Amino acid sequence: MAEPKPIRRLTENLINKIAAGEIIHRPASALKELLENSLDAGATSIRVTVKDGGMKLLQIQDNGCGIRKSDLPILAERFTTSKLSTFSDLSRITTYGFRGEALASMSHVAHLSVITKTKPDTCAWKAAYSDGTLVDAKTGEKADPRPCAGNDGTTITIEDLFYNTPTRLSALRSTSEEYSRILDVITKYAIHNPTVSFLCKKAGSPSPDLSTPSSSDTATTIRLLYGHSVAKELIHHNVSSSDKNVKRRGGTDMDMDVDDEGDEDKQEEHEDEGGDDNPESWKAETYFTNANYQAKKMVFLLFINHRLVESSRMKRAFEACYLSVLPKGSSPFVYLSLQIDPRSVDVNVHPTKREVHFLNEEEITEKVADGIQACLAKQNHSRTFEYQA
Ligand code: ADP
Ligand code: MG
Repeated sequence: MAEPKPIRRLTENLINKIAAGEIIHRPASALKELLENSLDAGATSIRVTVKDGGMKLLQIQDNGCGIRKSDLPILAERFTTSKLSTFSDLSRITTYGFRGEALASMSHVAHLSVITKTKPDTCAWKAAYSDGTLVDAKTGEKADPRPCAGNDGTTITIEDLFYNTPTRLSALRSTSEEYSRILDVITKYAIHNPTVSFLCKKAGSPSPDLSTPSSSDTATTIRLLYGHSVAKELIHHNVSSSDKNVKRRGGTDMDMDVDDEGDEDKQEEHEDEGGDDNPESWKAETYFTNANYQAKKMVFLLFINHRLVESSRMKRAFEACYLSVLPKGSSPFVYLSLQIDPRSVDVNVHPTKREVHFLNEEEITEKVADGIQACLAKQNHSRTFEYQA
């Protein structure tokens, strides 16, 4: 029998590298963290620049609140955050971030630098990080932030991602595949945040590959990013836990709002957030294509409490709504923004665990699917009626 080997404590550096590898899988996952930070900072304009699919350079510039100079020394340390202070905060967290791990992770697997300016600051500050601490970008020696010119907001630059973890680097696909994943993440966030202007371009390229205006609305942004073919067949429909009239498939007394607008109530909706104290109450806003639109693969955008997540159960349920209206092998576009009581979904799962589960998942899925199906049926019905008339 083999001799047992002694148990040793991992070095701090090794622990951090392992943790970083779990959070940052590829350029698109780094970008998602950075986008969320910019949105958390209240940015209304987010510009992304990419070189070699984000492996060489990933830069994100926002016009958010900026970072205080005095916070820069601990910015890239693990578990430093401005968003959470007590455990009970966790159940009502409204920001994307709260772990304080993203920037720390990036500093362990890439060259990270930051330029930031808060409104009251008279100049911007530039800082570079390696393994969680402030360094001089050129020498790698410890160094303080340096004053520089800059606008209000924050620019984060990630260079040479995975330069020190060759296995991870070699697992990445082509630069074009990584770039399309980056565009996909930005597209989804842009649709969910239509009042924020997003831009993404390759370094050195004169024209952006993605660009949205600020203060737009969901339908317009879908048209811009997924095209007219999707937008012209789009149905907008809201469902909530208090809807009595959307009960069972084929039920009566349906009063569906099958239109493209409804954006007037948006403001209200946001104000409502958390106003209801019943942990079982929820509301869903959906945009989905009608029977005239047929894609090869289903496009499914799911945001739960504004987080981009995945749910294969929901995806299957919504795709099934189209079985009787779409030809075999064709799929719809479905965007769902679901708001549930933060207490009924556990955000404290592993950061990379995007497949979520929450309270009353089955009931909510069914009600939303019923709503979609009812709208589709109503439309089909009115079309048949038109033909007959
Ligand atoms: P988390 O988002 O979980 O707090 P991060 O490592 O992503 O952790 O960020 C650490 C902290 O850095 C944030 O809590 C925030 O205070 C600050 N920060 C990061 N990015 C930005 C940004 N773009 N604008 C303003 N502050 C930022
Ligand atoms: Mg974050």
